[in-house]
Amino acid sequence: MSTSPAALVREFHRAFGLDARGTPAEVPAELAAHRGQLLAEEAAEVAEVSVSGPLDRLAHELADVVYVAYGTALVHGIDLDEVIAEIHRANMTKIGPDGRVARRADGKVLKGAHYRAPDIASVLRRQGWQPPEGGQGA
Ligand SMILES: [Mg+2]
Repeated sequence: MSTSPAALVREFHRAFGLDARGTPAEVPAELAAHRGQLLAEEAAEVAEVSVSGPLDRLAHELADVVYVAYGTALVHGIDLDEVIAEIHRANMTKIGPDGRVARRADGKVLKGAHYRAPDIASVLRRQGWQPPEGGQGA
């Protein structure tokens, strides 16, 4: 059995008869709001234990956030692994071709001349997303 979060969460959604889509699509507003609420609850639990710990509780809540985020992606038909790969690609372009990272005087990492922002709309279109007319990513 695969241990990738996407595969585990898909198994969970199947077992419990939860929503799952194979193609990116907008979902009913009530369902979208419910998923957002679940994620907000888990994120709040992370914030609660971030400083106080204990570490096993922090690990648990971090995993809950990822699990619920993957579930939310599945509900919307988004292959989140591919989106994360695109975010990673963009983040890595913050390093210049010389291997150096541009920083501001106060240490903040700058995007630099070689930075290429993530193009999530293109990732979703490759997954079959058809953006609404005139909508973002169209
Ligand atoms: Mg939790």
